Amino acid sequence: MRLVLLGPPGCGKGTQAKRLQEIFGIIQLSTGDMLRAEAAAASETGRKAAAIMQAGQLVPDAMIIGLIEVRVDQPDCRNGFILDGFPRTLAQAEALDAMLAARHLDLDRVVAIEVDDEDIVTRIAGRFSCSRCGALYHDVFHRPKQDGKCDVCGATEFTRRPDDTAETVRKRLQAYHVQTVPIIEYYRRKGLLRCVDGAGAIAEITEKLKVAIREGTRVD
Ligand code: AMP
Repeated sequence: MRLVLLGPPGCGKGTQAKRLQEIFGIIQLSTGDMLRAEAAAASETGRKAAAIMQAGQLVPDAMIIGLIEVRVDQPDCRNGFILDGFPRTLAQAEALDAMLAARHLDLDRVVAIEVDDEDIVTRIAGRFSCSRCGALYHDVFHRPKQDGKCDVCGATEFTRRPDDTAETVRKRLQAYHVQTVPIIEYYRRKGLLRCVDGAGAIAEITEKLKVAIREGTRVD
């Protein structure tokens, strides 16, 4: 199964993609995580991307399409994948279609997680992740069971993303509305789109996503 998760920054795509990957046995491909790994490794791509990410803008289509194209051919994508943070522009959506068509593959479902802009800044301001395994947490909505200790791997170091400041979030939201929202219509026309309300408890949203992925709750 091949899925795309759409939605504004901070809507819970990453958290939900991690949960769906366990449920459906398919791998999460997060372009944001890939770029952060490149930045941490100080590769040429990573150095270029870091400044753009920090400014709350989108990295060039060619850079991200190149990263995804290499990734989907890896053996762990054989059963399928959940695209988290890609595509984010019409050019990327079209490149994805071409990439899949060249491999005689299709997308099975595109799910848009809907969250109001006003809620986004609060959500993003509180999030942090385990420095060792990347498990995601939130100051209010999802604290580790034992304060200061990762539930998944037991590590005690946590990090916050440098682009999670209020100022950068506003720019990321703007990029989302201008560049990414048009692809919702693109997938609606193809009949692939389902929409899920992103407000509520993490587990509840996962349940709604499972329904939307399996049979679809609302076809827009
Ligand atoms: P994310 O972790 O998905 O919130 O992505 C963090 C940042 O990485 C974004 O604000 C962009 O600067 C960059 N990025 C991630 N995915 C893409 C993409 N598909 N196209 C362009 N830029 C991206």
